[in-house]
Amino acid sequence: MRARAPNYCENPASRILDPTQSPYPGASSAVTSNGTEASPPPNTSSTANAADASSIPQPLGDRFKRPLRDLRISVTDKCNFRCPYCMPAEIFGEKYPFLAREEILNFEEVERLVRIFLEFGVEKLRITGGEPLLRHGLHDLIASLRALDENLDIAMTTNGSLLPRWAPAMAEAGLSRVTVSLDSLDPDVFHRMNGERFSVDRVLEGIAAAEENGLGPIKVNCVVQRGVNDHGLVDLARHFHGTGHILRFIEFMDVGTLNSWNMDEVVTGAEIVERINAELPIEPADANYSGEVASRWRYMDGGGEVGVITSVSAPFCGDCSRARLTTEGSLVTCLFADGGVDFRELLRGGASDDAIRDLIRSTWTTRTDRYSEERSGLLQVDGTTPKRERVEMYHIGG
Ligand code: SAM
Ligand code: SF4
Ligand code: SF4
Repeated sequence: MRARAPNYCENPASRILDPTQSPYPGASSAVTSNGTEASPPPNTSSTANAADASSIPQPLGDRFKRPLRDLRISVTDKCNFRCPYCMPAEIFGEKYPFLAREEILNFEEVERLVRIFLEFGVEKLRITGGEPLLRHGLHDLIASLRALDENLDIAMTTNGSLLPRWAPAMAEAGLSRVTVSLDSLDPDVFHRMNGERFSVDRVLEGIAAAEENGLGPIKVNCVVQRGVNDHGLVDLARHFHGTGHILRFIEFMDVGTLNSWNMDEVVTGAEIVERINAELPIEPADANYSGEVASRWRYMDGGGEVGVITSVSAPFCGDCSRARLTTEGSLVTCLFADGGVDFRELLRGGASDDAIRDLIRSTWTTRTDRYSEERSGLLQVDGTTPKRERVEMYHIGG
């Protein structure tokens, strides 16, 4: 059976919440509040739209006035790694029914959606997956997205294994930078956390290829799991200290339904900072921009910085400006959502740009997600959170 989250179209209007109940009284005032009610269906002609000032897209605010700034695009559900916390090998075997070609959005469909998202104030794209570099011809998609806006920040999250082959083409196509996942420098731990198919050296070669091709500043993501890789955190910090690459430690999350998450396996950001600081003194640094997911720590000897992403111990939903487009074309407004709003049917059914705009607007402006802030109230005595339907990480890309 396909372990895939339903690709249904929920009715966003059913999630109405009283805006006076916002837990974020200081939420962005830069967002136009006229987006907080779903607009009436606009003119169905996209050309007529130019003449109708009322349908010109505005920056959107959700129910808590959080803007839509960041779009993450999953370009494939396939991966060449088998990280047990994301795609356990025993489930994702040779015969696993990944999405068929016709089920996934083609590049023209992705480009069309992105063009419309940019009108709403999206400033940053992140290409992800699955393993995005497995998507055939990905450089063509990057080039077409780059052509939409030469200043757009287009990042990619990758496991790094295919960067030695693809970094030059990605850079040439206009990719801005990469984030490479690397959970351990120890080959045994790496194999335990990422599967047996590739080596630490291959990922390090990928990071070097990204650097040679100017895909920086390079970030390196390490998911920290207590008792699995946490003894190697300082080794990773030493390795990347002074390289200019930014190592970021991510608290292990209860995302998806497949990783048997337990709070006992979470090493909090505070503990991570304490452990690094004991060996390589660090001090807090200011955020680069509002909504930055990692809190920044600077090495006191000038060796660069590390980050911690404290989604579990100190959630940051109040600043969450991220939407996620799944491989098959659903818009998901939270990493922990149980589904998304289908855009593929609109795209393939001949819908006008205005109809697509309208669905983006109604989806975002009725958004109330803040799962990470609610998690502590959901924790059960055994350290787990209640089992329920959730989109899998490899479908929405982290
Ligand atoms: N395959 C690419 C990679 O691994 O970089 C991109 C997709 S992967 C789903 C995106 C990020 O999510 C990776 O950095 C991965 O380590 C992180 N991730 C996956 N499952 C996670 C979990 N349960 N908790 C925290 N981070 C997780
Ligand atoms: Fe693949 Fe990334 Fe998931 Fe690991 S975290 S299985 S590399 S998609
Ligand atoms: Fe955003 Fe959902 Fe994560 Fe909160 S839990 S930061 S709303 S993705």
